[in-house]
Amino acid sequence: HWEGPGRTADGHAVKLLANVADAASAETAAQGPVSGVGLFRTELSFLDRETEPTVEEQTAVYAGVLEPFAGGDRHVVVRTLDAGSDKPIAFATHPDEENPALGVRGLRLSFTDHGLLDRQLDAIAAAAHASGTPTWVMAPMVATVEEARDFAGAVRDRGLVPGVMVEVPSAALLADRILAEVDFLSIGTNDLTQYTMAADRLCSDLAHLTDPWQPAVLQLIAMTAAAGERAGKPVGVCGEAAADPLLACVLVGLGITSLSMASAAVRPVGARLATATSEQCREMARAALEAASPAAAREAARSV
Ligand code: PEP
Ligand code: MG
Repeated sequence: HWEGPGRTADGHAVKLLANVADAASAETAAQGPVSGVGLFRTELSFLDRETEPTVEEQTAVYAGVLEPFAGGDRHVVVRTLDAGSDKPIAFATHPDEENPALGVRGLRLSFTDHGLLDRQLDAIAAAAHASGTPTWVMAPMVATVEEARDFAGAVRDRGLVPGVMVEVPSAALLADRILAEVDFLSIGTNDLTQYTMAADRLCSDLAHLTDPWQPAVLQLIAMTAAAGERAGKPVGVCGEAAADPLLACVLVGLGITSLSMASAAVRPVGARLATATSEQCREMARAALEAASPAAAREAARSV
């Protein structure tokens, strides 16, 4: 019976974090064996809004997620609006794009309307300072070093800790240079897989391609984790991959320092991780990286 905190059989610490959408899921998560929140998807609070919520309205929504984690050393990673593509938001999404997944989504919204990001950061900062919860802020869909630098400046100006998501292969390839600008990285394996394999994450006919066990995806995760180790900065995974207990061991073996997942996945992942030593995790990672297919990678990791 596993009750946390996250660690391998030989005691190597791995932060296990929750993915949350609102105050209710944050309260549930806070009662579990988690070290905090690794992904608060802010856009999910505004799916039914026709107009942009005011800074005050946003502050109240963010405070509802931060407050359950106040008064301790647990932190919350707030993701700025990831509007567009699979998450259309009436007041932000650009209409009539030919290829919304490759369009103006996530941080790219700030290229044409910086006010939207500024107002959201003001609201996050107000909620963070009122609650006292350690608050990290990350941007989705970052593709360049310059984007990371600009975002980090805006977050630091408000006294918060900046990071970016690695969801676009360019960000994995530039991980060393991006880490020189920010304090942490969080790999979104759902989108990183979609963009690496050029396969729509919602297309069930392509499920064999949108599989995070694909060797090319594991290779990009390995590069990103290695950059984190060189910089001495945390690199987490917050996509669905983190909820797969076997893959969680592989990710830790690749050097990933935190895993963020739906609250219900935390106990199975924590329990599996507690059965593998760090050396076994590294062995599983080596075996998976060398495999020719997702099925072979699973088999190779399982047989360590
Ligand atoms: C991801 O892309 O892996 C991710 C965590 O973000 P989302 O699923 O919200 O796109
Ligand atoms: Mg994503």
